Amino acid sequence: MNGARVSGPRFNLAEGVLQRPYRTWVEVSLRQIADNFDAIRNVVTPSVEVMPVVKGNACGHGVVEVATALCARGARWLAVSSVEEGVTLRQAGIKARILVLADFLPWSRAAAIQHSLTPVLYDLADLKVWDRLNESAGQVGNYHLKTDSGLWRLGTREAASDIVSAIRACPHIRLEGLMTHFAAAADYSSSQTEEQIACFLQLAAGLAESNVRPRYLHMAGTVPVAYRRTEAWQTLVRPGHAIYGYVAPASGADAPPRALSVRPVLTWKASILSIKDVPPGARIGYRGTYCAPAPMRIAVIAAGYADGIPHQLANRGMVIAGGKLVPIVGAIAMDLTIVDITASPHLQAGDVVTVLGSEGGVSIDAQQLGELAGTSSYSVLCGITQRVTRVYV
Ligand SMILES: *Cc1c(COP(=O)(O)O)cnc(C)c1O
Repeated sequence: MNGARVSGPRFNLAEGVLQRPYRTWVEVSLRQIADNFDAIRNVVTPSVEVMPVVKGNACGHGVVEVATALCARGARWLAVSSVEEGVTLRQAGIKARILVLADFLPWSRAAAIQHSLTPVLYDLADLKVWDRLNESAGQVGNYHLKTDSGLWRLGTREAASDIVSAIRACPHIRLEGLMTHFAAAADYSSSQTEEQIACFLQLAAGLAESNVRPRYLHMAGTVPVAYRRTEAWQTLVRPGHAIYGYVAPASGADAPPRALSVRPVLTWKASILSIKDVPPGARIGYRGTYCAPAPMRIAVIAAGYADGIPHQLANRGMVIAGGKLVPIVGAIAMDLTIVDITASPHLQAGDVVTVLGSEGGVSIDAQQLGELAGTSSYSVLCGITQRVTRVYV
């Protein structure tokens, strides 16, 4: 780890000496990020642009480092959620095009112009607003228009003719992309995605009849790429989760096999603070929710819900300790978690356990942790807080 770049808390008692100098940390493989990006590009072929989605601090992986690695591997576009996230990338020197997915708030617009961010407009009335801003800036600005094909979230529901009229009234902006977003792309037991695709393509055809042909038509995130739903690819795809090495499982009898092979890029470690032997009947942790059934050995590890360990993992989560999956016992505390290491009795204070990742031939990933916690791999990864030092390897 010596020489690796880190971000986040830097307090380090033994700089350059220890292999594991933090209470808890994540290691992010920037090479694996770039390899996952390549794997996606290989599936969709060069005729489809790949726009990695790096919102939510690159799903907890660190947006500047991830974006820099993606651009070095040839990414021409990145997507973020807010103008603030886009400005962070510009201030870090990222030159790629940046699409802002969900932020055309009144106080964000000036910064979007100033930092050359491309907004997604989701309301036809906003076209005129963006047009005036670009006119004042003495430029023709790009935008992507989002249409709501059935998610009932962001996106206009206006008809093609009204969209064409709004576009014609705005000479200082250019419709560069038309996009929509799926509600349940992994669910092959429902026809909802096909209906959304049909709705979107019908709108695109309606615009084309009036000679409105945006350069990019886009619908797909990770799932339609991973399961080769090619009708959803059009000219650009917007994968987020696959960049970080995850693909949600498809459901339904007609679900096709996965065509995309990506690997998780993040490993999460935590140090053992203390070990103790516990007699039968001891009630472990806050509120005594775990009662030791037999003599056991426990380890107190230096990560809790303030680091992003989901509190729902109380008495049901696992970590890897000494190369074995071992159970979490008792409640998750703010800074501490207790695990049963009876199966790995040689461990000592100062040793390290794996919260996410592989060790000794066993592994636990964010998908599994999310299932144990009754949440998703997305929220587990995004939930790793800033207190956890990121180490880039
Ligand atoms: C988050 C997001 C994506 C990426 O989705 P993944 O499932 O992570 O690939 C794509 N498009 C939009 C509009 C999003 O909000």
